[in-house]
Amino acid sequence: MYNIAFKKVTKAFGETVVVNNMDFEVKEGERMILLGPSGCGKSTTLRIIAGLESITSGDLYMNGVRMNDIPCGRRGVSMVFQNYAIYPHMSVKENIIYGLKAAKMDRTEIGRRLKEVLSMLQLEPYADRKPRELSGGQRQRVALARAIVRRSNYFLLDEPLSNLDAQLRLHARKELVRIHEIYGQTMVYVTHDQVEAMTIGQRIALMHNGALAMLDTPQNVYDHPADVFCARFIGSPAMNIVRVVSVGSGICLGSNCINLPESWKKVVEKHRAKFYYAGIRPEHLSLTEEDGSGVIECDVVYCENYGGRCGISVKPRGSKEEMIVLSDGPEPKPGDGVRVRLDFTRLHLFDADSEKNLGDPVF
Ligand code: ADP
Ligand code: MG
Repeated sequence: MYNIAFKKVTKAFGETVVVNNMDFEVKEGERMILLGPSGCGKSTTLRIIAGLESITSGDLYMNGVRMNDIPCGRRGVSMVFQNYAIYPHMSVKENIIYGLKAAKMDRTEIGRRLKEVLSMLQLEPYADRKPRELSGGQRQRVALARAIVRRSNYFLLDEPLSNLDAQLRLHARKELVRIHEIYGQTMVYVTHDQVEAMTIGQRIALMHNGALAMLDTPQNVYDHPADVFCARFIGSPAMNIVRVVSVGSGICLGSNCINLPESWKKVVEKHRAKFYYAGIRPEHLSLTEEDGSGVIECDVVYCENYGGRCGISVKPRGSKEEMIVLSDGPEPKPGDGVRVRLDFTRLHLFDADSEKNLGDPVF
């Protein structure tokens, strides 16, 4: 079983803890994403798997074997770094097959793998070029190709697509998933890009300050964020998070007080706090002409055109906070008064102190 199990793994540099008590498992053959903002400890976590970083406390198991003291070369990993290093004096082709030749692989097999990977990453025209004759994106693909041809049990990638332009990145994303489906390696993929995480990952480990904030499927991270941090990190434009006051039968945003449906009342009654953070995604708010439950009176601040849709920033009356409403209807003008309907089935309430999600009501 080529799985990876973190057992309370902590890594400190001197006094500074950068990976904090990580306890999770990457299943065999899974595409696991390590996602989080810059500096949260993603690369360090990946380097721990690769054996390039020692563990301060806790244990790492791969394939059931404790890895803490096993050197990188004996872990069966291939890795693509953020700052990939390819040999400047070798051609693209030579760079890609260097490791296979060093491992004395059969020449016809090397040829077969090289041909396949050149085509997969659209590198055929550059096979005989030197790295200095390539763009940054092309060099990054050479680094990817070099890791792919090895077909190791574990495939570790650290922001491998960051130097590609938008179109190539889209293509490479699809190709990576396809490659993974062919070879079925256990894959750990580091990125700070939530779109990349959602589209490539089978599960996402969302990291915050060196610790695991949430680990689940992309859909569950989007639908049921564990806390305000997770809620804000996934989705674009980001989820609206506004402070609300709890009143008897509902919640108030500024001077708008809205009645909560029975299912939500039960959640709030159980929790009994005065303030909450309400979270609602821009795509779950809509402009409406009607009055009624879940409708908030707002003023338009500005509109951002996304082409086909616009993000309308609005301020609920009596509130200082803004929310974004995603709309494909006609664009209102700044200063216009609008009614915004919120979808109670897509609402989240977070504890104002711990910022944890209160949990979904039963509708
Ligand atoms: P990420 O990949 O999520 O951006 P890193 O794992 O690279 O984050 O780094 C996490 C934290 O650890 C950062 O604050 C970084 O400055 C620190 N760090 C990384 N490597 C070292 C090191 N060798 N010595 C001291 N601090 C380090
Ligand atoms: Mg990093």
